Amino acid sequence: MNYPPNVKKALSLLADAGFCAYIVGGSLRDMMLKKEPHDWDITTSALPNEILSVFSDYRTIPTGLQHGTVSVIIDGGLIEITTYRIDGEYSDSRHPDSVRFTDDIALDLARRDFTVNAMAYNEQNGLVDLFSGKADLDRKVIRCVGIPEQRFCEDALRILRALRFASKLGFEIESETLSAMQSCRSRLADISRERIQTELFGILCGQTAERTVGLMCSLGIDSYVFCREENSPLTYAGLDKLENKPETRIAYLLRNDEYPVKSAVAVMRSLRSSNASLTAVTATVRGITQPLPKPTPENARRLMNAYGKHLDSVLDILSVIGDAEEVSRIRELIRIEAESSNCRSLSELKLRGNDISELGIASGKAIGIILERLLDEVIKDPEKNTRTYLLERAKYISTEISTPRKE
Ligand code: ATP
Ligand code: MG
Repeated sequence: MNYPPNVKKALSLLADAGFCAYIVGGSLRDMMLKKEPHDWDITTSALPNEILSVFSDYRTIPTGLQHGTVSVIIDGGLIEITTYRIDGEYSDSRHPDSVRFTDDIALDLARRDFTVNAMAYNEQNGLVDLFSGKADLDRKVIRCVGIPEQRFCEDALRILRALRFASKLGFEIESETLSAMQSCRSRLADISRERIQTELFGILCGQTAERTVGLMCSLGIDSYVFCREENSPLTYAGLDKLENKPETRIAYLLRNDEYPVKSAVAVMRSLRSSNASLTAVTATVRGITQPLPKPTPENARRLMNAYGKHLDSVLDILSVIGDAEEVSRIRELIRIEAESSNCRSLSELKLRGNDISELGIASGKAIGIILERLLDEVIKDPEKNTRTYLLERAKYISTEISTPRKE
């Protein structure tokens, strides 16, 4: 098997010190699938303090010492090294009440979630595969280690991990595992919303997101994840055609809700998402629930002004649910506009709020109204974006808005 020299070095330093050590978990799974693992995990018989002393010449970070994890930096790469352990009782559907270290690799592998994640490998002993993980990898199946119901009750996050791996790897979920996911789904209420968000984003960005979200819905798991006020079905058909951005994909799923913007806000808040993600989803939902304007340069500028950096997501979705040719015409016009110096936003207007305020013709809210009107004119005709013209217009508009219209 092929793995980087720094991982090899970590394994041999542990072996030379008399400990057993293996590559384990997701890194081994990805390696066997010939994918580049995004992190490297080693499991070892060495206790945390012993790990620290084996790697005393290297930078170590006691990531989760009480759980037995030490991160070591070797040749610039981070490797997580964890003592073989057994998880204690679970009373909150998520965290073991205690962990116990062991010198038996079999017990460490048995606590792991799925067979494809529960293999270990080193050069001395080859592959340690006590739960037929290799066969499941070949069959492309996600299956629990042990009794599925028990495993999901211990830690309900595994329900979403199963979906995430199915989506990411394009795997099926084995039938007993699947029915336990359904019967244990209410335990998801005990899981932190941040962790749910992380798993959901992973599910949405996997290679078979559409199929996996469909599965999530058919198992009745979606309501524990999305927490919408509405109970219309999520619209997931076509999901895989979209760019791989969780925010775009969430907007797509919610677009047929009766109040999609409200739904988007509720869903993103309930997932404790960042403001940036919330804004991205709501702006996208707003954009896709409006009809696409005719492809003209002016409309291209209007769209750029209205949706800013979220416009790509809006158009991406519209090209799936609407007229893809019209969308590509608009995209082309947007490309041309982006290369031009035409004004498309307040920040590009050749007049600032301060300029209007210095004229003494308006203040506060009125300045905002004037600027918006000026921008509107300039978007219609970019030639008008000159200071002289805009100053004159500002004066005119200020008198217009301060004089009540005659009936
Ligand atoms: P990823 O590609 O997302 O990193 P991974 O399989 O490496 O996938 P991690 O969360 O990095 O997942 O965890 C590393 C390993 O630890 C897993 O492969 C699995 O063996 C074990 N593991 C992680 N979380 C759990 C859990 N909730 N229950 C049981 N075992 C777990
Ligand atoms: Mg990992």
